[in-house]
Amino acid sequence: MKVKDIINLEKPSLSFEVFPPKTQDKFETVSTAATKIADLKPDFMSVTYGAGGTTANYTVEIAKSILDDGVTPLAHLTCVNSSKESILEKLQQFKENGIENILALRGDIPDGTTPSQWDFKYASELVSFIKESGDFCIGGACYPEKHVESLSEKEDLINLKHKVDCGCDFLTTQMFFDNDLFYKYLLRVRNMGITVPVIPGIMPVTNGRQIERSCKLSGAVLPDRFKRIVERFSDNPKAMQQAGIAYATEQIIDLFANGINAVHVYSMNKPEVAQAIKNNLSEIFK
Ligand code: FAD
Repeated sequence: MKVKDIINLEKPSLSFEVFPPKTQDKFETVSTAATKIADLKPDFMSVTYGAGGTTANYTVEIAKSILDDGVTPLAHLTCVNSSKESILEKLQQFKENGIENILALRGDIPDGTTPSQWDFKYASELVSFIKESGDFCIGGACYPEKHVESLSEKEDLINLKHKVDCGCDFLTTQMFFDNDLFYKYLLRVRNMGITVPVIPGIMPVTNGRQIERSCKLSGAVLPDRFKRIVERFSDNPKAMQQAGIAYATEQIIDLFANGINAVHVYSMNKPEVAQAIKNNLSEIFK
């Protein structure tokens, strides 16, 4: 099924994310985690693509196994440092494996490389290329706190509008920890004339020490309320996990209450986290 058709249904939906292994010896562990998450019957599951395509084949394999488990997969695909031929090859693999949803991304620029020499400079070019190459449902990334490389929010939104016009059917946001930032962003997105669904991405923080680094890389701001949770509980992993899940649940309930239907959870290969979120929302999904 196409993700755009799932999220256009007028009811709450939840998707989870897994990331593929870097090496074959970890494949079984990731595959088992993906199956456990698929058993929770999310509306779809996304599978990330390792920086610079390092996990390309595993992304396809894990996405295929999710499909075999009866859940719609959304495969991520990055284009940094990739030729048109190699992307075409990947699209062919997606088609052969019944994967019809792609999150089209540029990827982070590796140090010491020159984007001007690449076949694809921005994700918008990948979106156009995928659009011409088959009947895929295409998503793009967006950034409520602007992309770290953008000089201004305005510039970021102009580039986003162009990307959507190239053929995005929906957008998924970078993680954020303050829903008000998302609501304000959504207004700006709509004011730009971008009408496709925007799926908020929620990260249940289970490791207080890692989150500061992730925020630095992604540009997401940790609200003081959440910083205090990290300060208080990061030395107690179980308490931190419980508090992180509770905070994410609260964000999700607030999003549903404010009329957002589709929410994506960065569940990061943790079935227990996905399960806890699902349990906390059991009456909403009855
Ligand atoms: P783009 O849309 O190309 O934007 C990148 C920057 O270029 C932005 O600042 C934008 O404003 C600017 N820009 C765009 N078009 C133009 C233009 N025409 N002229 C000038 N400037 C322009 N990374 C991975 O490696 N694997 C993953 O699986 C993955 N999944 C992700 C999922 C989500 C939901 C998100 C939010 C991010 C994900 N990322 C992933 C990270 C992503 O690859 C990086 O954030 C990357 O730096 C930007 O990718 P993009 O697709 O947003 O790029």
